[in-house]
Amino acid sequence: MVQSSVLGFPRMGADRELKKANEAYWAGKLSQDDLLKEAKRLRLEHWKIQKDAGVDVIPSNDFAFYDHILDHIQLFNAVPDRYSQASLHTLDEYFAMGRGHQKDGVDVPSLEMVKWFDSNYHYVKPTFQDNQTFKLASDPKPVVEFLEAKEAGITTRPVLIGPVSFLALGKADRDQSVDPITLLDKLLPVYVELLQKLKEAGAETVQIDEPVLVLDLAPKIKNAFKAAYEKLVGDSFPKLILATYFGDVVHNFDVFPALQSLYGIHVDLVRNPEQLESVIGKLGSNQILSAGVVDGRNIWKTNFKRAIETVETAIQKLGKDRVIVATSSSLLHTPHSLDSEKKLPEEVKDWFSFAVQKTAEVVVIAKAVTGGPATVRDALEANAKSIQARASSERTNNKAVKDRQSQVTAAMHERKSPFPERYAQQKTHLSLPNFPTTTIGSFPQTKEIRVQRNKFTKGEITEEQYDKFIEQEIDDNVKIQDELGLDVYVHGEPERNDMVQYFGERLDGYVFTTKGWVQSYGSRCVRPPIVVGDISRPKPMTVKESKYAAKVSKKPMKGMLTGPITCLRWSFPRDDVHQSVQAQQLALALRDEVVDLEAAGIYVIQVDEPALREGLPLRSGTEREKYLTWAVDSFKLACAGVQDSTQIHSHFCYSEFQDFFHAIAALDADVLSIENSKSDAKLLKVFEDKAYPRHIGPGVYDIHSPRVPSEQEIKDRIAEMLQFLKPEQLWVNPDCGLKTRQWKETKAALTNLVNAAKFYREKY
Ligand code: GLN
Ligand code: ZN
Repeated sequence: MVQSSVLGFPRMGADRELKKANEAYWAGKLSQDDLLKEAKRLRLEHWKIQKDAGVDVIPSNDFAFYDHILDHIQLFNAVPDRYSQASLHTLDEYFAMGRGHQKDGVDVPSLEMVKWFDSNYHYVKPTFQDNQTFKLASDPKPVVEFLEAKEAGITTRPVLIGPVSFLALGKADRDQSVDPITLLDKLLPVYVELLQKLKEAGAETVQIDEPVLVLDLAPKIKNAFKAAYEKLVGDSFPKLILATYFGDVVHNFDVFPALQSLYGIHVDLVRNPEQLESVIGKLGSNQILSAGVVDGRNIWKTNFKRAIETVETAIQKLGKDRVIVATSSSLLHTPHSLDSEKKLPEEVKDWFSFAVQKTAEVVVIAKAVTGGPATVRDALEANAKSIQARASSERTNNKAVKDRQSQVTAAMHERKSPFPERYAQQKTHLSLPNFPTTTIGSFPQTKEIRVQRNKFTKGEITEEQYDKFIEQEIDDNVKIQDELGLDVYVHGEPERNDMVQYFGERLDGYVFTTKGWVQSYGSRCVRPPIVVGDISRPKPMTVKESKYAAKVSKKPMKGMLTGPITCLRWSFPRDDVHQSVQAQQLALALRDEVVDLEAAGIYVIQVDEPALREGLPLRSGTEREKYLTWAVDSFKLACAGVQDSTQIHSHFCYSEFQDFFHAIAALDADVLSIENSKSDAKLLKVFEDKAYPRHIGPGVYDIHSPRVPSEQEIKDRIAEMLQFLKPEQLWVNPDCGLKTRQWKETKAALTNLVNAAKFYREKY
């Protein structure tokens, strides 16, 4: 019999109950007992959903209050002293590492949080000491949760992060120099103890995640697999299924001999179906293959026919007992259930599958290959119909969009003249001083703005009333910028809820969910829009507000757009056409917007691409270069329709460009604004080394904190920047948009910023 399995289930609950409970607990409005109860209720509910769906292998320990890697930090007692010394309750110590703690005389910042591979989920980075030791927690969470499920009559497969990934994803603590992987020998005894305890508790198999196996690995990491897994196999341990996802493992096949005595290997066959045959060839003689055929990263219904073919291929080689049907990764990255969506067009809703639906999908596929298609005929027929309907729908196929794409030429990607000629024109056209000052787009999103937006969404005020309110906000923003003496203005984005959703709502080809929340970090969830079809722009999206803003201001007004890659990355993309095609469609829509803005008198246009870097394929080499080529092309296509005298800006929320500087340079943006205030100014050296010819505004202060930087601090920061950048290249601006700030500190900080810029203007 072919079993079905789920690698992990979303934790938040249908109504983001975990988020609400966590936040209530942090605010002191919910007792710890009640929080624990709520978590237990959610775990049970999620196990039941899977059990009722008929899933054979149900995960446990996939739950986490904040993050599963953070769970392991505490589980192994890899807690830095600054947290353990605070003598907090275990759960508070845990949250202190996740989000910092500032209460009752304890003041510790959080541990670093970084993106989980190429997803929008963030994990807490394990942080090690030179003299690091490990010790298993007294009531190990994986054991407790296994027993909790068992008591409810549900046998689960606990999920652990593997020792190699746990170390490789970590770093030395500040001021420490330990290379995490050298800690393996110290860490392994803890895994031995934990696995034994799980076995004693009754766990027959354990899913051990080693996602680093899809990355380019240094030899020392590869060797660690051998050292680790020869110690974790034996009769006193549960059988281990080693799971990889978000990439292929073919380039790391030299690690496989060390893994052959494990019970099984899980691979992602949604992302890399082509690895199937070669992975089979590398399996040990009795080893199980867990075939990840149901997408854990996207919301589309699985194409059963294709998935069954894939699984059948594996069965032919391995036999039914050696194949498990699985989700490609944890379902953590998908929303909870489609049942909550009441507003989606029925046609489109039928194409989707969220976590709850995906658990049913693995079951159908497993039944189809076990007992033959007849056993699940209805499900297969309904699926074939949905897949067919989606493929032939007018929503997915817009001839006008395709025709336009076929006419895109190389020349459409290029500005008319090279930068020096453009800049000469821009400087006079915009009458810019040296060290021009500007901001990144958004101004404080006050309570009043949210109140009015809500009223408008609920139909409590008319569009006319809402528009008037927005105009009033823009008037105020312009007046404030007059007073501050900035050089290039922004309208402040009061009309925007979110930088991607705002555009998605104005483009054809997108749909929106009402409850399609996905955990981003801790209690923060995002609700990505979904690209369902060919994308086009029915009418201008931002011209009304920008035009009004330009009319009421004496200085150049900057138009503000979200770039094609960021729109795509922060959405659920289509899985039926390549992402480069979707990016080009977005680029063409934005190109029209850029040209319309220019025609409306907006001569500075910023196209934000903060997500460009996160789209980088996980491994260096051809894939990465291919991505950069189409990503850069779509940015250029969006921007290049303007006259030389119109200035194109772009913005990035980070400053590490070393590994893909050529792509940043290739964007050919007249001005780049980047986050820099918290990084070493030396990161700017790459611009000097590569003789970057265009203009740059490295952020001079951190916008994440209410702290007001002094004029002197900003001057010092600019002085550092001038070590690497020419005075005539430098713009003066904050790190990022100011929407999360209050006006009080914003005005104070920008006053100091303008004064610092003036100081250098006089000096040079
Ligand atoms: N223009 C956007 C803003 O100012 C940019 C946000 C971002 O880069 N994340 O809010
Ligand atoms: Zn930013």
